[in-house]
Amino acid sequence: MNETGYTDARRKMVESQLRARGIHDPDVLRVMEEVPRHLFVPQDLANQAYDDRPLDIGAGQTISQPYMVALMTELLAVEPHHRVLEVGTGSGYQAAILAALAREVITIERYEDLAQEAAQRLRGAGCGNVRVLVGDGSAGAPDHAPFDRIIVTAASPSVPPSLKEQLAAEGRLVCPVGARHAQKLIVVDRGDGVFEESEGVGCVFVPLLGKEGWSEDD
Ligand code: SAH
Repeated sequence: MNETGYTDARRKMVESQLRARGIHDPDVLRVMEEVPRHLFVPQDLANQAYDDRPLDIGAGQTISQPYMVALMTELLAVEPHHRVLEVGTGSGYQAAILAALAREVITIERYEDLAQEAAQRLRGAGCGNVRVLVGDGSAGAPDHAPFDRIIVTAASPSVPPSLKEQLAAEGRLVCPVGARHAQKLIVVDRGDGVFEESEGVGCVFVPLLGKEGWSEDD
């Protein structure tokens, strides 16, 4: 496929997979139409980048389905002055989407190879406001906290307490929570001294492995 083909595929993805299913935030729809998803998947899968499903990116990990990226981004309600933490860099695609909406994005990945590839792709896509860290993000990134928004793109048995603590006042966190093979999207809002949680749609993510996620032997 050539560039015109990709642009066309992206426009169709936005109409049929996102708008038709209720994604309505104009900024989210705009950045999903702008960010070249095909640059964030392995080259031999570039032609499938705009398909309605997740794709393998190596190390047993996946880039989420476009709809899930858009839904989580819409739920996160990112504003231009926000500092955002993403846990689970994977391909770097979600980070690129966030970078187009926020002031700064810190993203953390436990696999060094994935982190390096993602950093390279993000540079290639011109995302200058993203920093990729390597490590266990289940306990957040305390040196960089607080964050206005935190998104976890791997599944956790419960919302990691450190992540809640690293939310700024009026902060919001989105995280898939549940069993190892089926979860629900949980939204946590940090209000005036209290946390409010609400439960959203069902989803399936790869596990968040680490101190405040699943243990490797679970
Ligand atoms: N947001 C990604 C998709 C993430 S898949 C994208 O847009 O492509 C989930 C990622 O979380 C995987 O790459 C996995 O290695 C990573 N991960 C799992 N546990 C982690 C942890 N404790 N800290 C950081 N990354 C983790």
